Amino acid sequence: MSTVTTMKCACESCLCVIEIEKAIKKNGKNYCSQNCADGHPNGNGCGHAGCECG
Ligand SMILES: [Zn+2]
Ligand SMILES: [Zn+2]
Repeated sequence: MSTVTTMKCACESCLCVIEIEKAIKKNGKNYCSQNCADGHPNGNGCGHAGCECG
């Protein structure tokens, strides 16, 4: 079992690619951060380098 499954964060403007195992799950989607999962309620991005979502 060495398969690492990754996918893009479900946040539209997010560029992050995340490991599904470590993703924040919400409504069946996978997000890179709690901010993304919550829809950026405070306008804060995920805080990951190079990502300007939020
Ligand atoms: Zn991001
Ligand atoms: Zn985001």
